[in-house]
Amino acid sequence: MRINVLNELRQPVGTVTVFDLCEPLISLEDTEIRGLSGSLTSVRTNRGLLASLKASATVSEQCARCLVAIDCPLSIDFEEEFIPILDANTTRRMRVSDGAGGFRIGRDFVLDLGEPLRQYVLMLEPQKPLCQPNCAGLCPACGADLNAASCGCTRTFDERWGVLSGFEASKKEG
Ligand SMILES: [Zn+2]
Ligand SMILES: [Zn+2]
Repeated sequence: MRINVLNELRQPVGTVTVFDLCEPLISLEDTEIRGLSGSLTSVRTNRGLLASLKASATVSEQCARCLVAIDCPLSIDFEEEFIPILDANTTRRMRVSDGAGGFRIGRDFVLDLGEPLRQYVLMLEPQKPLCQPNCAGLCPACGADLNAASCGCTRTFDERWGVLSGFEASKKEG
C-alpha cells in the first residue's frame, strides 16, 4: 500500500494529515491481506513523518488441527516513523544515521506501508489458529476429517488421541 507524501513532507513540523484507507487486496511476500479498512494519521516530525495506522483486515490461515482454510480477522494498529531519503523542498539528500530506526521514504516520496504491514501481520497472526474452538482434527490413523464424520478406525485409539492432542494444544496456547 503506497501513499504519495510529498505534500505532507513540505508542511511545517506538527502538521497532521489523515488518510482514509480501503484496500481490497494487498499481496505481500509471504502473506495476503484482504479487506483492509481504516485510517492512517501522519504527523510531520523534524526528520520525517510519524504514521499511525488503525485498521482492520482479514488474513487467510490454516486450521492447526484439521488444515481447513479459515479467515482470521486482525486489528492492525501501529505507529512508525518514516524518514525521507531526500529533502522534500530542496530534493537534496538527507543525512540519516544508520541507527536512526524507522522506515525510509524513497526518492519518489512514496510512503510504502508494505513492509511494516508484513511485519505486524506476522506478529499478530495466531500461532495455532483453529476453525472452531473444539475442532476434532484429523484421524491420526486414516487422515479423515473427524469434524465431518467419525471414521472406521478403532474408537479407543481415536478418543485417547483426542484427549492427548487437546491437552497439548491448550498447553502451548496458554
Ligand atoms: Zn479445524
Ligand atoms: Zn481414521
